[in-house]
Amino acid sequence: MAARYAVGVDIGGTKILAGVISLETGAVVSSARKRTHPERGADFFSKRLLDVVTAALDEAKKGEHDLEILGVGVGVAGQVDRAKGILLSGPNLGQGLDDFPLSKLLADHTGAPVTLGNDVEAATLGERAFGAGRDCDDFVCVFIGTGIGAGIVQDGQLRRGVTGTAGEIGHTIVDYGGRLCGCGGRGHLEAYASRTAITQVLLAELRRGRASKLSELLSPDDSTIRSKKIAQCIDEGDELVIEAISEGADYLGAGLGSLASFYNPRRIILGGGLIEATHLLFERASKRAREITLPAATRSLDIVRAALGDNSGIVGAACLAGAAASA
Ligand SMILES: [Zn+2]
Repeated sequence: MAARYAVGVDIGGTKILAGVISLETGAVVSSARKRTHPERGADFFSKRLLDVVTAALDEAKKGEHDLEILGVGVGVAGQVDRAKGILLSGPNLGQGLDDFPLSKLLADHTGAPVTLGNDVEAATLGERAFGAGRDCDDFVCVFIGTGIGAGIVQDGQLRRGVTGTAGEIGHTIVDYGGRLCGCGGRGHLEAYASRTAITQVLLAELRRGRASKLSELLSPDDSTIRSKKIAQCIDEGDELVIEAISEGADYLGAGLGSLASFYNPRRIILGGGLIEATHLLFERASKRAREITLPAATRSLDIVRAALGDNSGIVGAACLAGAAASA
């Protein structure tokens, strides 16, 4: 059988990634990335997206001249209309991209069929096919980034829920009436344990004059903190950063423990840059989850890290395209 390939595209508020992926092995044949810059509007975004996809395809074709692409799969950070191939809205992509015809744009450009999905759904499918969920039929992938989202695999199939919003673990409540969440609700998990929430805590403490190694690593106008800088501070024993990550980990543990009690999965897979970069967040959240949960729910539960790292989105998006091509 000839090798099967698909293009996987991962669109987030910070960056757009595209790759040509082997559907047999999950290998990334080529990939390209650029920053999204959602504030620059829809025309800029369209050009940028097509540039990234073209760069990935050109690079792949250099190595393999008769590369046959079965389709293009997209995982985008937002709500999608899968049947119409439209991005309905993406909170981190700006209102300029509401009701954006993603599938048509990519189909016109590549001449290949396009399958659209949500970014967490795609990353979960990537881990299911080639990553930490490869040998497991019942697991939940939890990704910690700008927000916190989860993908549920039950009996080997992705569960989307009645209206397609299953897995919104970031908006479950860990502190009734507590911190304001980006969605407008209060006390939601992602207001405590997302990279955004932990960053806000750190920046607020720095502004108050708290001493930290972090102040040497950041410019005064930085509004984001790279995971690597956080990891470096932890390694060097920085009190503030250890405190903030530990607090985030305790809330994350509460969220994961609740998930385990309620859903009783075989495995919870944790992913996202901060999980990859730091041991503390992963280790402490896993420990807390077990401490606060019914023993019966955690007896057979593994909590592991995602295996595909940054590539889970493009690999999973390619799997979406592969599944559509074989349907
Ligand atoms: Zn919320």
